[in-house]
Amino acid sequence: MPNLDLDAVLSAVSAASRVARRAAAERADLADLLKDDRSPVTVADLAVQVAVTAAMRAAAVPHSDRLVGEEGADSLDAGGSRMLEQIIRLAGEALVESGFGDDAPTSEAEIRELLDAGGLDPEKEGRDVFWSLDPIDGTKGFLRGQQFALALGLVEGDEPIVGLLGCPHLSLGTAEDYGAADPSGSVYLGIVGEGAFAGDAQASTLAALTPIKVSPEPPEGRVRVCLSYEKAHGDQDRTSAALEATGVATTPIRIDSQCKYAMVASGRADLYLRLAREGYREKSWDHAAGCAVVRAAGGLVESATGEPLRIKGRWVDAPGGIVVRTDAVNVPTN
Ligand code: AMP
Ligand code: MG
Repeated sequence: MPNLDLDAVLSAVSAASRVARRAAAERADLADLLKDDRSPVTVADLAVQVAVTAAMRAAAVPHSDRLVGEEGADSLDAGGSRMLEQIIRLAGEALVESGFGDDAPTSEAEIRELLDAGGLDPEKEGRDVFWSLDPIDGTKGFLRGQQFALALGLVEGDEPIVGLLGCPHLSLGTAEDYGAADPSGSVYLGIVGEGAFAGDAQASTLAALTPIKVSPEPPEGRVRVCLSYEKAHGDQDRTSAALEATGVATTPIRIDSQCKYAMVASGRADLYLRLAREGYREKSWDHAAGCAVVRAAGGLVESATGEPLRIKGRWVDAPGGIVVRTDAVNVPTN
């Protein structure tokens, strides 16, 4: 376990969660565009990445100069001045409210520098410790007013060792309606080998969180499974076959983003299946944080072939897809 001031990291995530929550409330008025791979990017993705990066630096989080972030300054080129103004306003307001006002960026050059700081390629640069950041994981859920997550994971070699998931719309309780936005949201912290914790989304100290664990057994033997909301993000035929082979008879919980990892880590689901379509390569920022949170809570994160999930710089090594489960659930995926 690295010598990490976890309160510093939590306060950075909490500041950026404010940006995400406010952006979600204003989403109809925010600029958005499609990236070259046709995935959506909004002002919120960029403002949250700017805020996390600035807050991590301000809080002197170790390795904050080693960041693999999903977004880059190139998205600004297409978004124009309206996008830039909205990023400066949203990131600035939340940083001021969180006590990081002195570090709030005010110019285009500062915003570009903060966004490009996430361009590290650990495979090329041979750095073996880095943070992997998805500022808004589940942008499509964000745009629908449903679930999304701010995901920040610390990776050492090919293993996620610390993970934080800010889930501004996910309740901490057992609410059945995962589609609706909860007013307090939640945050999850996992320290592999030490434990996992959860609290409300504005928590900025470890003392404000309580321990969580994966479920020891599926309740009444009924396995609860999480799947992507977006059916295009998984191979539906292989998923149905694996669910049948596992004997899953419950209705799948379809939610966007790494909120699925939070559901398993906090004992609200027993399984998260992500059997990707042929040819899709998973990105590290979509899994590093969630993987650490689930492992720290006592769960397993594996490839479909039963190997532990490994991070390879900006990518994930998980042949055949990803299976997140508790010890009590066995998934025949072949
Ligand atoms: P989820 O809501 O769990 O499906 O995860 C959202 C993430 O899925 C996004 O951040 C994307 O990086 C990723 N994604 C995009 N396209 C695909 C795809 N075809 N298959 C699997 N994942 C994808
Ligand atoms: Mg993502």
